[in-house]
Amino acid sequence: MKKVYDIIIIGGGPIGIACGLEAKKNGLDYLILEKGPIVNSLFHYPTNMQFFSSSEKLEIDEIPFISKEAKPKRDEALEYYRRIVTSNKLNIHLFEKVESVKKDSNRFNVISSKNTYSSNQIILATGFYDIPNLLNIPGEDLSKVTHYYDNPHYYSGQKVAVVGASNSAIDAALECWRKGAEVTLIIRGDEVGQRVKYWVRPDIINRIEEGSIKAYFKSSLVRIEKNTVTINVEGKHITIDNDFVLALTGYKPNFNFLKMLGVHISDDEKKLPQYNPDSMETNIEGLYLAGVICGGMETHKWFIENSRIHAKQIIQDILSKQPSTSAIK
Ligand code: FAD
Repeated sequence: MKKVYDIIIIGGGPIGIACGLEAKKNGLDYLILEKGPIVNSLFHYPTNMQFFSSSEKLEIDEIPFISKEAKPKRDEALEYYRRIVTSNKLNIHLFEKVESVKKDSNRFNVISSKNTYSSNQIILATGFYDIPNLLNIPGEDLSKVTHYYDNPHYYSGQKVAVVGASNSAIDAALECWRKGAEVTLIIRGDEVGQRVKYWVRPDIINRIEEGSIKAYFKSSLVRIEKNTVTINVEGKHITIDNDFVLALTGYKPNFNFLKMLGVHISDDEKKLPQYNPDSMETNIEGLYLAGVICGGMETHKWFIENSRIHAKQIIQDILSKQPSTSAIK
């Protein structure tokens, strides 16, 4: 007889880990499947990235997160979440991607890159960091274009166009400029994003005002070529010399995966997946959503701070539906 898990958790990000820990504490038989290393998305964040949340707001299950400054750096978060996984001996399979999930009567059949599994419940905690919002312009496929910024050293002495006005774009623009890059910001709206970290926003505004960083507002990139980019500035096309393009225009959840599972998604531009906000259960019985995936295209709505609670909501719902004896193992 093939083993049947109580829960298979897809995604080993902070919220998938929170769900695993909560399942373990409540005696449920669970498995986390993660396609990369522990907290893969955070691992791929920029090397010098600093969270906008203070460390206690990123804590799981009130396990203390101690960081040097009030707001932790990426490396400190990697260490924190890794320690939660290893100290609690969470049942997680790394570098194992879930390819498909099918519901067969009351069970879910999960096919991964390495194995097949059966479970009574699924928690989908796959985040949104895998799929960038593309510019859909000629030249976007050139090797000088990236949607994932890592380290400013790489861009020193280079002409760098940064597309976007939110935290990722502004952090990248400032870091690259401070390492000697010639930075041009291309911003669709008429100002730097209002959600940019409050201690960073004055910095970028001052750098733009003093002319250290060139910014085009009400602008969009229309074409990327080997040595240039062309920008549409309020209807007028300007071509400037360019070595690299950082297209940091956000990311989106894997809607195809949600659809494959049968989750209803709203028809509007928000593309909100359907779930019960109390239990986090979707329109498919036994299939739950956790973490930032819940926001659809509204990727600013959920973050670790306000979605870590999903773990408790989901496990409580699963326990409440179990026959009374099976919760005690
Ligand atoms: P993720 O961390 O994205 O985890 C999803 C996991 O699922 C990934 O590890 C991925 O590899 C895995 N996965 C995906 N598909 C599959 C598959 N098919 N099979 C197996 N595994 C799969 N939030 C805050 O609260 N405070 C902050 O300061 C903050 N700063 C941020 C800064 C940046 C640059 C970004 C991008 C986000 C930030 N956020 C912040 C938001 C939040 O940290 C992240 O979105 C967070 O990672 C969400 O956790 P999650 O577990 O829901 O998703």
